Amino acid sequence: MKVTVKKQYTLSCSCGKSITVDDLSAEVLKSTGWKIVSYQSPADEKSIKSVSCPECLERERLRKYSSNDIRDRISAGYYQDNPEKYYDDALKHVGLAGHPKASKAFSYAYELGHAYGHEEVLSNLEGIAEVIL
Ligand SMILES: [Zn+2]
Repeated sequence: MKVTVKKQYTLSCSCGKSITVDDLSAEVLKSTGWKIVSYQSPADEKSIKSVSCPECLERERLRKYSSNDIRDRISAGYYQDNPEKYYDDALKHVGLAGHPKASKAFSYAYELGHAYGHEEVLSNLEGIAEVIL
């Protein structure tokens, strides 16, 4: 008789909740709503250092959503909900708010690349501001 032992992994969040899964693939984790936050060794996907449960992930997202840091707000999806705020916030972040070339700088930042969204436009804008200011 052949016996197959199924390996299981137990993940624990810092809040005390834990979950047991059959494998650590991105697909399985996504279906649970849990997320790997960091690894002991980046090359080894089994060397998980810390994980977050869905409730803690949502709490962290809400914290970033109302943060003063524009990158936090970008990662929390704030500008997906408030697209009209991005232009002013991005220009203010790089010190170009009210600058005569602000509008041109923003258009150019967008033209340079926006496939990766607000984060990419912001990085472009930072580079442009460095040249202008
Ligand atoms: Zn938690």
